[in-house]
Amino acid sequence: TDDQSRMNICWKNLVSGSSLAVCRPGFFKASPQSPSCSKCPPHSYTHEEASTSCLCEEHYFRRESDPPTMACTRPPSAPRNAISNVNETSVFLEWIPPADTGGRKDVSYYIACKKCGSPSGLCEACGSHVRYLPQQIGLKNTSVMMVDLLAHTNYTFEIEAVNGVSDQSPAARQYVAVNVTTNQAAPSPISIVKKGKIAKNSISLSWQEPDRPNGIILEYEIKYFEKDQETSYTIIKSKKTKITVNGLKPASTYIFQIRARTAAGYGGFSRRFEFETSPVSVAASSDQSQIPIIAVSVTVGVILLAVVIGFLLSGSCCNHDCGWASSLRAVAYPSLIWSVRCGYSKAKQDPEEEKMHFHNGHIKLPGLRTYIDPHTYEDPNQAVHEFAKEIEASCITIERVIGAGEFGEVCSGRLKLPGKREFPVAIKTLKVGYTEKQRRDFLGEASIMGQFDHPNIIHLEGVVTKSKPVMIVTEYMENGSLDTFLKKNDGQFTVIQLVGMLRGIASGMKYLSDMGYVHRDLAARNILINSNLVCKVSDFGLSRVLEDDPEAAYTTRGGKIPIRWTAPEAIAFRKFTSASDVWSYGIVMWEVVSYGERPYWEMTNQDVIKAVEEGYRLPNPMDCPAALYQLMLDCWQKDRNSRPKFDEIVSMLDKLIRNPSSLKTLVNASSRVSNLLVEHSPLGSGAYRSVGEWLEAIKMGRYTEIFMENGYSSMDAVAQVTLEDLRRLGVTLVGHQKKIMSSLQEMKVQLVNGMVPL
Ligand code: AMP
Repeated sequence: TDDQSRMNICWKNLVSGSSLAVCRPGFFKASPQSPSCSKCPPHSYTHEEASTSCLCEEHYFRRESDPPTMACTRPPSAPRNAISNVNETSVFLEWIPPADTGGRKDVSYYIACKKCGSPSGLCEACGSHVRYLPQQIGLKNTSVMMVDLLAHTNYTFEIEAVNGVSDQSPAARQYVAVNVTTNQAAPSPISIVKKGKIAKNSISLSWQEPDRPNGIILEYEIKYFEKDQETSYTIIKSKKTKITVNGLKPASTYIFQIRARTAAGYGGFSRRFEFETSPVSVAASSDQSQIPIIAVSVTVGVILLAVVIGFLLSGSCCNHDCGWASSLRAVAYPSLIWSVRCGYSKAKQDPEEEKMHFHNGHIKLPGLRTYIDPHTYEDPNQAVHEFAKEIEASCITIERVIGAGEFGEVCSGRLKLPGKREFPVAIKTLKVGYTEKQRRDFLGEASIMGQFDHPNIIHLEGVVTKSKPVMIVTEYMENGSLDTFLKKNDGQFTVIQLVGMLRGIASGMKYLSDMGYVHRDLAARNILINSNLVCKVSDFGLSRVLEDDPEAAYTTRGGKIPIRWTAPEAIAFRKFTSASDVWSYGIVMWEVVSYGERPYWEMTNQDVIKAVEEGYRLPNPMDCPAALYQLMLDCWQKDRNSRPKFDEIVSMLDKLIRNPSSLKTLVNASSRVSNLLVEHSPLGSGAYRSVGEWLEAIKMGRYTEIFMENGYSSMDAVAQVTLEDLRRLGVTLVGHQKKIMSSLQEMKVQLVNGMVPL
């Protein structure tokens, strides 16, 4: 009865010493002093009355230190989206936290490393030689780096998320596994270099094999340069661990660095060793030893050139020499001709040594620098670090997002380098979850940009590769990309301002073509403009050049090409050259003068290809100076050899800027065929009545007969003359070729005043 049960409760309270009520099932009171009973926390229960704690449900646990009021928890689920980045014998892993933390905040990560044999596939624990940075157990961050792994080995890394109750759970571990194969490690740097015999023109060196060769050493590369003249250095190759470097200046200090090469590629260079040649003795002031070197240099140079050209033609290279051969291949073909004249030299060293003079990483040709394709590096990271400065992330302040690149956001911000004033920069970031290829392609742009130094080429400040996110830092261009800027400011500039922009772009392109770099995606959208209206060429990619351009379309041959900007030979058979860049430059001229109008408007790519192939060209933009339109038409010559070179474009624009009245003549309004393409005719009749009169006027009368005999009997026919034709006609003197070609060029500009499109 009720009285009976009330008596029982009273009795219990008396026994427990508590004067308060007993908790019902599902409730508990941890301490008798607690004023009331609490509901069992989540994932716990009690079926008893008067419970002082609740029991955990199945698969849920409580740590001893967890208060009874805390929910029961369980181990976390597996980490997600793990990605790996292999660099020789190091592996970087990154992941995102588990979807389910098990209800706890004390999640950390444990890395299990297994070495798996092939083809058996059996795995064993990695052993203690592997180092984990920062640690293997109890990782709080979601990334880790393993170093000192074995070369060419398959590893499986299991990333397990654990929490305070993981060790109580009998359930299987929850982890995400990543399989990687390490690359072969390059040899470690050489640490000891000793000087031997020193003479006034030579220094003998010897060194020890690297501590960790990681393979058979195929050769050593010795780089040296005169102190403080690093941009001009020489590289010698040797199979031995000693060498005598000849041809040095007396009483001069030289810096030497040596690195070893195995099948895995080059190791890092040794630190710099500084040695000085002995002073010149009065008696021996004329250096006899130089004579044989110079004597052999041209001959051996020619032989070597033949070998190099052989390489170029065969297009093949053996594995060991790929890096070397392809850096040679990266040297533009004309520079090889230069080399003969400049005495591309192989000094008389040990027969096992090859010597080349480099300037900024290339065969040294006075006054000429060439671009090195980062693809020619076995290790693309090496290319990045050769051409781009590493910046500490702490020096960068990101301010706002200004654009979207293919690999991530583009931001503006500020860079404060030690000892320098803070200045604005643009920061391109690589989004998280990137693949190794994406990282390589992203940084490839920096490896290219870092080789250029010109006021009309976007300047690279450096890269951040040692921390996340990976970034490329460049100078900041306040007005952003040129096409958008022009559209926003339609009709706002004077012709001289527009020509100034075009002159800048042409000058940047001249620099690139001199370097042997073909841009392939020159378009107003890839030009940046700053607050002073200075235009700079940007967007230097590797394979991505055309991949990330929304204008690029697939051609029947499978490549992706920005059709409207591309020369017909590049579309048809991928003949990308500086001459095809000139075609694109002509389209950029048209975009600039028409304030960002879309070339060929809404015509389809197929129609554009067909129209251009049939000889149609874009009509002159509204209010376009005749001279500019003629230059555009010249850039769109079908025969790529007839197109002007960038240096000619620069000088022509300079002339126009110096003589602004030359820009006053607009293309005859009646000749404008709006919305229709004009048929391209290079040159009509000229100011000269005959070919003879013209040639006499430019003091080239001696060629009149040859011209007439070969069918160039009218000015119309002469207009088609190319440099190749001149050579064929026997005009071999460069000065004469220039005179004739530039006169033709000039005539075209003048004649356009009266031009009527067909
Ligand atoms: P990109 O990936 O190089 O095509 O850059 C995407 C966009 O970011 C461009 O269209 C520009 O609007 C902007 N941008 C890129 N680089 C710079 C820079 N150096 N200064 C200012 N804006 C930039």
